Amino acid sequence: MNEADLRILVDEITQQILAANQRESLLKQEEDWLPVGVSVRHVHISSHDLEVLYGPGCTLTPLRELYQVGEYACKEVVALVGPRMRALESVRILGPVREKTQVEVSRTDAVYLGIDPPVRASGDLTGSSPITLVGPKGTLVLQEGAIVANRHIHMNSTDANRYGVVDNDIVKVEVLGDKGLVFNNVQIRVQDSFRLQMHVDTDDANASGITNGAKARILPK
Ligand SMILES: [Zn+2]
Repeated sequence: MNEADLRILVDEITQQILAANQRESLLKQEEDWLPVGVSVRHVHISSHDLEVLYGPGCTLTPLRELYQVGEYACKEVVALVGPRMRALESVRILGPVREKTQVEVSRTDAVYLGIDPPVRASGDLTGSSPITLVGPKGTLVLQEGAIVANRHIHMNSTDANRYGVVDNDIVKVEVLGDKGLVFNNVQIRVQDSFRLQMHVDTDDANASGITNGAKARILPK
């Protein structure tokens, strides 16, 4: 092969590599990034506990639908009280009703209330913090039920295949911006009813300077 031919060959290969890189970065820009939802403190409630707080026969009144299908914010709110005798007022109940009442607060909220809830996946309440809920018709003193929700990503199985992850995998996730950072210990939650979305609490959102709808990227393992 003479020098001219060699140069053509090298150029061709360079072009191919550049094109492949471009395709990859386009994919990263458009497909890899997923939306972030910021979870403000909220309560999931059981039918029994709802009746304690809002009176016999009370059911939840949907106010607006949430991004995840079938979930909604309710008209009903409660006050949370902890051992420091301070209250967080107008904490929204999210429907539909659940088997067990679960209170999700940020670490900042927990400090204000004087409780020390563990970081947990939704539904994992054994040994979680005691908390008191106050409604218009009654007060509920829970021996356990308050958690700081873990970081997690909702996705369906198609998304899971695309990202190469399975239910309960733990991943690192990057968000960009002036205070951009990498979140560790992000749990993957796969259910076919889920819409692709990462959930962080207000402390994580504030620490990284992001708001609802920000974009995040799962980093390679
Ligand atoms: Zn979630």
